[in-house]
Amino acid sequence: MKKIALISVMAMALSGVACTSNDVKDNKVSWGYTGTTAAIHWGDLSSEFATCKTGKEQSPIDIIPMVDIAQSEIQFDYHTSPMTILNNGHTVQVNFDKGSSIAFKGKTFNLLQVHFHTPSENFLMGESYPLEAHFVHASDAGDLAVVAVLINEGQASDFVQKVVDHMPSSKSEAKTIEGVTVNGLNFIPSQDGHLGFKGSLTTPPCTEGVQWLMMKAQTTASKAQIDALNSVMQENNRPVQSLNGRVVHK
Ligand SMILES: [Zn+2]
Repeated sequence: MKKIALISVMAMALSGVACTSNDVKDNKVSWGYTGTTAAIHWGDLSSEFATCKTGKEQSPIDIIPMVDIAQSEIQFDYHTSPMTILNNGHTVQVNFDKGSSIAFKGKTFNLLQVHFHTPSENFLMGESYPLEAHFVHASDAGDLAVVAVLINEGQASDFVQKVVDHMPSSKSEAKTIEGVTVNGLNFIPSQDGHLGFKGSLTTPPCTEGVQWLMMKAQTTASKAQIDALNSVMQENNRPVQSLNGRVVHK
């Protein structure tokens, strides 16, 4: 029963969106990043969100690489997909068609979507970044893996420009943009090297058991691109959470 309940929560979360979230409309519980529904209150807004308060492996974190072990590599098998984009009221998200995946530790995770946070949710060695991208993947069994990329201000990004050009300025259903394609690989600066740790969804219901894979290589977007995303999403970063003894593998 427990497992079935977990899978149904996962399915609900994934059908919603972000990293991922039940849609306000779906669960009738409103949450956000400011005021009475801000992150510090999520665990009290609904019994379904209890893990946001009681969880011991919550995300994001301040990533401080600690343990040097021979890590499994991530094998990327990403392909070009039509661009489907939405604004779920919490983030701007691009959905990918089926067919892209990663392999990690012998398991295949299918790429579902990428979405953005301004500023970054994860910190690296105490530093915040102006933008972070989360590529959300799920295995057929419902296990989640998020490939995260930290983005500095600098040269403009072609990928981010497509997002900025087509993002809905307010909450909206997903729409496929005719004639526009995206490939996640164009946004991942180098496939070599990542920092791995266990965590959770960074939005309600804060479900745990998520494999986080922070790419060591970072990329850039222009100030105008970051500002454009921020003007639509506002600040949508959950504060960093306690490690509770977790270690980051480098
Ligand atoms: Zn996210």
